[in-house]
Amino acid sequence: MTGIPSHLELVQGVVLPRPVGADPVLDFVNTRSDWTTVRGPARTEWLTSYDAFLIWNSYVGLLPPATVSRLREQAGGKPAEAVRRLHTALEFRADLYDVLTGRTTGAAFEAVARVIEHASGRRQLVRTEESATWELPEDLAQPLDNIALLAGELLTGHAHAHVRRCPGESCGWLFLDPRGRRRWCSMATCGNRAKVRAHAARVR
Ligand SMILES: [Zn+2]
Repeated sequence: MTGIPSHLELVQGVVLPRPVGADPVLDFVNTRSDWTTVRGPARTEWLTSYDAFLIWNSYVGLLPPATVSRLREQAGGKPAEAVRRLHTALEFRADLYDVLTGRTTGAAFEAVARVIEHASGRRQLVRTEESATWELPEDLAQPLDNIALLAGELLTGHAHAHVRRCPGESCGWLFLDPRGRRRWCSMATCGNRAKVRAHAARVR
C-alpha cells in the first residue's frame, strides 16, 4: 500500500494522474489540477521536471521506453535546455486549454498554431520496409512536438466537437465524450465529491 489516492499512480518514482481523458492530448492537459485559473499556478502540478514529463510520456504510451531512456541521457547532458523545453510544454498546455475549451484569445490560438506548425515542419519522412512513415528527430523537443502533432489532429478532426470540460469544483479537466453520457472527469474524484455535497445539502 502506498497511500496514494486512487486517481493517481506512482510511476518510476513520480506521482502521475491516471489517464481519464480518452485521448492522450486531453490527458496531457490533465497533468495539472484546477483549470479554473488557467493562467494562475496549478494547485497540483504533476509535470514538475523534464524527467517527470518523460516518465509521463512513457506512462501514457506516447513514447517508447527506449526513446525515453535515451532522451533522459540527453537531458542529463543539457539540463538548461531540458528546463526550457519543459517550460515551453507547460505554456503550450495552457494555450491549448484555452483553444480546446473555446475561450481562446486570438493570441492563444496563434501560439498553439505556431507550435503545431513547427512540429509539423520537423517531421522527417522515413523509409520503412513496406512504405514510409513520419518521424520526429529524437531530441529534447520530441516529446512536445509529438503531442503538438496529435493536438493538431484533434483540433482539425471530428473528435474536437466531443471534448468536454469537467464541471467539478476546482477541476476543469478535459475528456472526450462522443456519446454525450459523461459528466465528470472521474466518478472517483469529482463525481463522488458532487454526490457527497448533494447529500450534505439534503440533510441540512
Ligand atoms: Zn473533474
